[in-house]
Amino acid sequence: MQRPIIGISSRKIYYTHNERPYPRFGVAVDYVQAVEAAGGAPLILPLTQSADVLERIMSMCDGLLLTGGYDLGPQYYGEEPHEKIGQINPLRDATEMTLASGALAEDMPVFAICRGIQILNVASGGTLYQDLSAQNPTPVLQHFQQLTEEYPSHGMEITPGSWLHRMTGEESVRINSYHHQAVKDLGEGLVVTGIAPDGVIEAVESVKHTWVKGVQWHPELAYKSFDFNLAMFRSHVEAAGQFACRRAGIQVD
Ligand code: MN
Repeated sequence: MQRPIIGISSRKIYYTHNERPYPRFGVAVDYVQAVEAAGGAPLILPLTQSADVLERIMSMCDGLLLTGGYDLGPQYYGEEPHEKIGQINPLRDATEMTLASGALAEDMPVFAICRGIQILNVASGGTLYQDLSAQNPTPVLQHFQQLTEEYPSHGMEITPGSWLHRMTGEESVRINSYHHQAVKDLGEGLVVTGIAPDGVIEAVESVKHTWVKGVQWHPELAYKSFDFNLAMFRSHVEAAGQFACRRAGIQVD
């Protein structure tokens, strides 16, 4: 089978040369390489306000990967900015909300990582903690670890019988953690399948879609050292291949 095309959401990169700005759209190489290692054909998507451009590009993709990054504008879930909210890029917000909504509407497989799980949740009607430490009702662990990514810094309990349980083969694993926001109220159709010891939501899956999963950690930074992280990318690519067949009207058994 041909490699399914996985559209990867990008970010604006502020690059200067000779004291002049040369902004770029780009993505951390780890996402691209993890998708390739999992059998997919990675395609980096540009940022744009034009829904018709995104729709045309998405028609060539078989799956969507929503990547990590800074904070989502709180107006997308009806709030004003908390004093501890971080950096926001309105163009990226608009692009990813359109990508997520479009993919969900056509039941395209979505793998949502870090900021991605937050986009997925808000695109599904949910809300976020704008800043976990300031807003979580009870004290939280350190979720922006000082350790480098090869050291999974906190634990996670996994819902038995979930996709995540199948991927890990465990009822608890340790994961890396680089976030100060998190899922608060769940979006429609999402269920929690991974939870940190302090109650912070670390993984969700959609019961309304064929294959829509979100994780709050960074599997792309650890897919070489922990097999379950690569297994998740493989599962996404496989689902994207099945979606491509469904869309083309080809029967899959
Ligand atoms: Mn965490």
